[in-house]
Amino acid sequence: MRVVVATSNLGKLREFHDVLLPLGWELVPMPLGLTMPIEDGVTYEENALIKAAGVCHALKTPTLADDSGLEVDVLDGAPGVYSARFGDLTSDLDRNLYLLEKIKHVPTPRAAKFVCVLTLAYPDGYVESWRGEAHGEILEGPRGLEGHGYDPLFYVPSLGKTYAELSIAEKRQISHRGQALNQMLAAYREGAPKREISKLE
Ligand code: IMP
Repeated sequence: MRVVVATSNLGKLREFHDVLLPLGWELVPMPLGLTMPIEDGVTYEENALIKAAGVCHALKTPTLADDSGLEVDVLDGAPGVYSARFGDLTSDLDRNLYLLEKIKHVPTPRAAKFVCVLTLAYPDGYVESWRGEAHGEILEGPRGLEGHGYDPLFYVPSLGKTYAELSIAEKRQISHRGQALNQMLAAYREGAPKREISKLE
């Protein structure tokens, strides 16, 4: 099956390709010039569907999209779906500093989780979704040089490392996105999509 991956992030495209390789699908990037639909949903599910269904409709090709974010317990789940624009700030560094400032009076450990919703939309209107969650803590300062976003602040106690201290392969094994992708892989290895539970009106 030929599947478009609705992302402008080449790292994501590579991760999707590597994890889903056993399915034998041809994963292709969005064509240049196609604009990504505006992610104005208030849940990961809504945003992943907006991207997957929007691009699928435009290209008449099955399309895979994801949406993810960081949820901090003491901030009642913020920044959540707004993780990429937290504080209206434009750099990862500034968003990390803003997060640290917001919770500086909260003693460690500060529980948090990453969430990822992965959605596959078909031209006939059917969609399927998978959700991955990865739990950890927000450190008082950054650690590690790998990754992106909030990785340097997100500490995994069982590993004694932040996401920014993990290799790409290590992070994929435990991350929210890795979990969602692996759920999808397992579902498709078992056979045809369970369309009856997710038919769009
Ligand atoms: P997206 O939906 O995958 O583009 O993620 C939205 C935002 O959530 C990103 O811009 C990051 O700020 C944050 N985020 C999502 N996944 C990760 C991750 O694995 N590490 C660090 N930050 C992440």
